[in-house]
Amino acid sequence: MIEVRDVVKAFGGFRAVDGASLSVAPGSITGLIGPNGAGKSTLFNVIAGELPPTSGQVLLDGEDITGLPPHDLFHRGLLRTFQIAHEFSSMTVRENLMMVPGAQSGETLWNAWFRRGAIRAEERALAERADEVLEFLTIDHLADEKAGNLSGGQKKLLELGRTMMVDAKIVFLDEVGAGVNRTLLNTIGDAILRLNRERGYTFVVIEHDMDFIGRLCDPVICMAEGKVLAQGSLDEIKANEQVIEAYLGT
Ligand code: ADP
Ligand code: MG
Repeated sequence: MIEVRDVVKAFGGFRAVDGASLSVAPGSITGLIGPNGAGKSTLFNVIAGELPPTSGQVLLDGEDITGLPPHDLFHRGLLRTFQIAHEFSSMTVRENLMMVPGAQSGETLWNAWFRRGAIRAEERALAERADEVLEFLTIDHLADEKAGNLSGGQKKLLELGRTMMVDAKIVFLDEVGAGVNRTLLNTIGDAILRLNRERGYTFVVIEHDMDFIGRLCDPVICMAEGKVLAQGSLDEIKANEQVIEAYLGT
């Protein structure tokens, strides 16, 4: 589904991503691991259109998407979770979901003025969809809570929920478990598995928690110093000498 071909991303003279190539199979939950500074997040940023690569290519379903802006990729079903922006923290959890771009049918102001009834109906449909998403994620009791009051883990679930407001094909999750307690991490894992099985979402997941990776991800790809070192099952990766060396070296 995704093919990364020899991508380089340099910051000045430093190559944060240094000739990385990998592919992501449709329907997989692919794990991306590697020591801090390996270039994982930078590679995500290149794939998701947030950073132009210095060289190399990214393909989505065989089509060259290199350098396309995030909103364009969003419409092609490629989503990357983003943290809840400050301006949304005073809105409720439900409202945050209703704000997801693309979830609305794209009414102009002109239409909004003349078609208030239709807008209200659309808003109700959006609110219903948001409530379904919250139920799926087991945080429906937080629908009317201000997003700013959520715990770190609950915010991660809300981020995942935003991807469910549109029909995503492939979702990139960067350290979804960071600062999240074990119970919530399991809930996040359950949601990812269900989205994968029931909705056919493909995932690429950066995570340091190896239990989480082991439970969800196959294959696992390991990066270090901007390069892809190995790909395989978590057990294969753990037994790979280059991988062991990369982790010991940090
Ligand atoms: P990872 O996510 O694997 O921990 P990153 O992709 O965040 O690694 O970073 C890879 C390397 O690139 C790090 O050494 C980091 O300091 C550097 N880096 C990341 N972003 C920038 C930037 N905008 N400018 C300069 N260096 C950066
Ligand atoms: Mg990172």
